[in-house]
Amino acid sequence: MTEKKPLNLKVPVLHLTPSIVNSHTPWRVLVVDDDADVHAVSRLILTKIVFKHRPVELLSAYSAAEAHELLTCEENIAVILLDVVMETEDAGLRLVKTIREELKNNEVRIILRTGQPGQAPEERVIIDYDINDYKAKNELTAQKLFTAVIASLRAYETIVSLNKTRRGLEKILHSSDSLFKIQSMHEFAAGILTQLSLFLECKPQGIICIEENNEVEYPSASSLPNGMKIIAASEEFSCCLKCNLDHSCGHNELAELIQCALIERKNKFNKNYTAFYLDTNDNKATIALVCSENPIDENDHYLLEVFTSKISIALANAIHYQKMITFEKAAVTDFLTGLNNRRQLLRLGVPLLALANRNNLLAVAMIDIDFFKRVNDSHGHDVGDIVLKKVGELMNERFRRMDVVARYGGEEFCILAPSLNIAQAFELFDNFRASVENTEIAISDSETIKITLSIGVSTDLCPSLDDMISAADYLLYRAKHNGRNCVVVK
Ligand code: GH3
Ligand code: MG
Ligand code: MG
Repeated sequence: MTEKKPLNLKVPVLHLTPSIVNSHTPWRVLVVDDDADVHAVSRLILTKIVFKHRPVELLSAYSAAEAHELLTCEENIAVILLDVVMETEDAGLRLVKTIREELKNNEVRIILRTGQPGQAPEERVIIDYDINDYKAKNELTAQKLFTAVIASLRAYETIVSLNKTRRGLEKILHSSDSLFKIQSMHEFAAGILTQLSLFLECKPQGIICIEENNEVEYPSASSLPNGMKIIAASEEFSCCLKCNLDHSCGHNELAELIQCALIERKNKFNKNYTAFYLDTNDNKATIALVCSENPIDENDHYLLEVFTSKISIALANAIHYQKMITFEKAAVTDFLTGLNNRRQLLRLGVPLLALANRNNLLAVAMIDIDFFKRVNDSHGHDVGDIVLKKVGELMNERFRRMDVVARYGGEEFCILAPSLNIAQAFELFDNFRASVENTEIAISDSETIKITLSIGVSTDLCPSLDDMISAADYLLYRAKHNGRNCVVVK
């Protein structure tokens, strides 16, 4: 059984603005003016504002330089009330350029307030500078200031929300691109966690579970009581691969959220976790549970739905691919021993025969377990199966990579061993025969049995593989006739 390992998550470096705003965060308004009275009056008016249940927080700067410094270290400033003439005649106007071009802040709304309109004429300024409003101080009453700030806050909110949606969509595009490239399910599970956490701007911590009875095999999966199995977990949740989210280990909260998402067939959120319901259209749900450090904005729920539908498509794609691999493998493999089946033996034999036609060297061996029926009769069919599997393992260990090892049917095996002359072929197969004869095969905790093999090896090159196999079969018959547990080579 494969050892369960937590996922090794590599987070691509994406620089996202962690602007987590909730319903109580104040609107930040920056007053930039070299006149202390302007600050005092502004404070009087603006601190009374409550817009969309959020108060206003006032920040003050007394020069353009001070404002520049403040804007570099403070985030989420919504509105700037900006004076023009401060340390220089056009300090305010220069600051506008710095904000938009150097700081690349296109979200903040700038209301220019000037005491000397002649210095910076309205028409020129509104065209040349990326400002959002222009007011002469002498005509800016409390009411007008109030109205201008509310209008700016509303515009700011829309811009921020649009930008956030745009960034979200960019992330969706980016992540589905990378997810579509992944085809191994284990890597895909890690990919889902990474992409979801990038989206939520949190660490990639969580688990991926999938509904049981999925045709795809997950060697390290562990089953949950609700019919789900955990197929992957990040380091922090690696214990869940063993505990199955049961009551003893305090993972009830996770289990409940997964259950809810499963029943309601949609994403579920709580304070600490987000359970993403991934619908792959085959009635087998996958739930990705991510540990979300920040509460998720209501507005993001829709975006997350778009995101999960994208991931679901990529997931369905990966599952489909995995199924194809599973079916393809099943078509060429013997289900009991995992060796090649007869069909695959004949297919892989073609290039070996072509090589043999050049160097004249190919050994074809038919190997049969002696008195195998007795194993079944005295120990049961299951023990018979154990013996067949063990013989398969011994073959895999002994023969070379270039040899084709197959279960031909029942207790008969066939080996194609290229580039061996008759003496080398005898040595190889007789060594194998002897090693099997001496192997104690464990059939229970306390019992072992031994078996022997009869082997016929044909090294006479024939035009077809079938002919060589028939020849080997005849030699095998001779080995049986000679008393079994021996090799006959020709
Ligand atoms: P011999 O030494 O002449 O080869 O005798 P034998 O008993 O090995 O050969 P026989 O052909 O009489 O019996 C082969 C047995 O192998 C009969 C069949 O039930 C059994 N067998 C075939 N396939 C399987 C299998 O997948 N599992 C098990 N357990 N037994 C199998
Ligand atoms: Mg001034
Ligand atoms: Mg036999």
